Amino acid sequence: MTVIALDFGGTRIKFGLVEHGQLLSADTITVPSSDSFAALLPIIEQHINHMLKVSVTPAIDSIGMAFPTIVDSDRMRLLYKYVKYNDANDIDLSAWAQKNWGAALVMENDARAALVGEWQHGAGKGTDNLVMVTIGTGVGSAALVNGRLLKGSHYLAGNLGGHQNIRFDGVRCNCGNMGCLESEASSWALPDILKRMTGYLKSPFAKGEKPDYEAVFRLAAAGNAFAIKVRDHSLEVWAAGILNLVYAYDPERVVIGGGVMHSADVILPFIQSKIDQAAWLPKGAVEVRAAIEPDWAGVLGMGYLGMVSK
Ligand SMILES: [Zn+2]
Repeated sequence: MTVIALDFGGTRIKFGLVEHGQLLSADTITVPSSDSFAALLPIIEQHINHMLKVSVTPAIDSIGMAFPTIVDSDRMRLLYKYVKYNDANDIDLSAWAQKNWGAALVMENDARAALVGEWQHGAGKGTDNLVMVTIGTGVGSAALVNGRLLKGSHYLAGNLGGHQNIRFDGVRCNCGNMGCLESEASSWALPDILKRMTGYLKSPFAKGEKPDYEAVFRLAAAGNAFAIKVRDHSLEVWAAGILNLVYAYDPERVVIGGGVMHSADVILPFIQSKIDQAAWLPKGAVEVRAAIEPDWAGVLGMGYLGMVSK
C-alpha cells in the first residue's frame, strides 16, 4: 500500500512517499507564488511525479492531502479557503488524483492529520483517547475519542481550539470574533500582545528585539520582568485552553507540538501541573507530552489515512 502524502502549510508544502506506514522519501517546497490554486497544481504534479520517478515504487494507491483549514473529508472539499487561494474550494481534487495517477484521494484538516501521525507513530502511541494541540503561528487542535477522529456536523469538531473564547471582552481575532485563544497567545498575535502590555516602551521589544516566543522565553529565563509577564500570560492562556479541550474530549493524553515547543521544558510542566490541579480529573489522569514528529506528523498521518481508506 503506497500513499503520496502532502501536508499544506501557510508557507510550505511537505511531500512524503509512505509505504505501509514507513516514510520512504520526503521533500519540502515553499508554496510557489501563483495567483490561484489551479496554477499551483501543475507544480505539485511535477513534484509528485519526480518523487515517484526516483523511488522504487512507480504506482501509488492513494494521495493524501492535509490542509490548514476546515475540510469535508467525505466529499473531499475544502470548506474555507486555503491561505490566499479562494479557488481551492471549487477544484475537484479527487478527479485530479484519479486523472493523473489513477489514485484515490483522501483529505483531512492538518491538525487531525498531525494527530493521526502522532497516534500511529509518535507521542500518541498506545492510547485511543487523544487531544493534539499545535501552538505556532496560530493554534490548531484535533481530538480522537475512543479511536475515532471527531468531525461533527460541519467538520469542525475539535479543530477550533485556537478560536475557543478565552476572554469574551478580549481583543478582536483575525477570525472576526473577540478574545479567541489565538488572539490572546500565538505567534501571529504576539507583536500586538507585546505592545498592549504595560511596560512595553521600556522593554527590549521596543528597542529592536524580535517579537517572537523564542525571545520571550529566552529573556524570561534571563530574568527580564516584562518577558516574564508575557510568558506567564501566554502559559496561562494555553493552559486554560487545553483544560477546556480536556473537559470537552476527556483524553488520556494531550500531545503538544508547534514552534513554541523549543521551550517545552517550561511549557509541559506548567500545563501538566494545571491539569493535575483541575477539578473533575483524578490526579495523573491526563498526561501531557511533546510531539515526537513535529515536522512529519501530518505527512505520516495522511499516509495512514490513505492506507486505511482503501
Ligand atoms: Zn478567532
